[in-house]
Amino acid sequence: MKDRVRIMDGKATAALVRAEVAEDVARIVERGVRPGLAVVLVGDDPASEVYVRNKDRAATEAGIAVRTLRPEATISQPDLEALVRELGADGSVHGILVQLPLPAQLDPAGVVEAIDPRKDVDGLHPRNVAALAMDLPGLVPCTPAGCIELCDRYGIELAGRHAVVVGRSQLVGKPVAQLLLARNATVTICHSRTADLAGVVGTGDVIVAAVGRAGLIRGEWIRPGACVLDVGINRGADGKLCGDVEFGAASARAGAITPVPGGVGPMTIAMLLKNTARAAEAALDAVASPGRTTGAGI
Ligand code: NAD
Repeated sequence: MKDRVRIMDGKATAALVRAEVAEDVARIVERGVRPGLAVVLVGDDPASEVYVRNKDRAATEAGIAVRTLRPEATISQPDLEALVRELGADGSVHGILVQLPLPAQLDPAGVVEAIDPRKDVDGLHPRNVAALAMDLPGLVPCTPAGCIELCDRYGIELAGRHAVVVGRSQLVGKPVAQLLLARNATVTICHSRTADLAGVVGTGDVIVAAVGRAGLIRGEWIRPGACVLDVGINRGADGKLCGDVEFGAASARAGAITPVPGGVGPMTIAMLLKNTARAAEAALDAVASPGRTTGAGI
């Protein structure tokens, strides 16, 4: 008979990570600097409001000074880029986060490029994307980093295992695949044109689902004993939040699985705080030993 599935509790794990970050922040404050996070929220998208409020609360609890800037939805591209550059030049700001999506008239790529890469706590600036691809130090996107952190905390072996990532977005699919590769997993990336999704998923020892379609990954596809990380956030037919994986049926086969909600989601915010503390520490180290690059100092 199959062992009981382990539910990977992202809420509890994120609380541990956040407590560790609070200790790191206290150490940084002793060095004379309070880590600062600037959140830019353009317009009044209700979902973004909720995300930003949660980030603000968690960062404040960890001892990080949070500043939320709320430009009007009608702000122009040059004005938004100028605002982001000003934050880059502000010594009290160590992390900059531009909440996406932006209103339709704005080009997110241009705004992200205006972020100082050393303060890019979402890990989306081309410099950080390149650093990840080249195994160089840099800031890593929060949700993918959260997936790896969960695996580490639950003792999930990655080296030599077959990891199947479903989804190839810049935000989740591609960076999580690169992080898994850096951990010596054998990685397959699936996407909307993959011919036999069920067949490929069925060969995975570790599955990362990052699509945004409720129940796309069927429980019966899961290889017995596999570890399933469900990144998707969807509203099910019953109106409740659910992931991309058929949770009940997948739990009957998996060795470990993340629930939705309470799995990968809480880890994302914890990793944002961790990135902000790292960026602040790297800024301090750069002042202490100019010319030396450490941590996030790419
Ligand atoms: P996205 O829309 O940018 O990318 C979705 C990907 O899924 C694409 O690469 C596409 O090729 C692939 N895809 C679409 N249909 C498919 C199919 N039928 N079979 C296989 N692949 C298919 O989305 P994203 O930004 O990567 O987000 C994915 C999901 O993760 C969403 O539900 C989002 O809300 C969620 N998300 C959660 C967190 C978190 O903190 N937990 C963070 C970011 C995103």
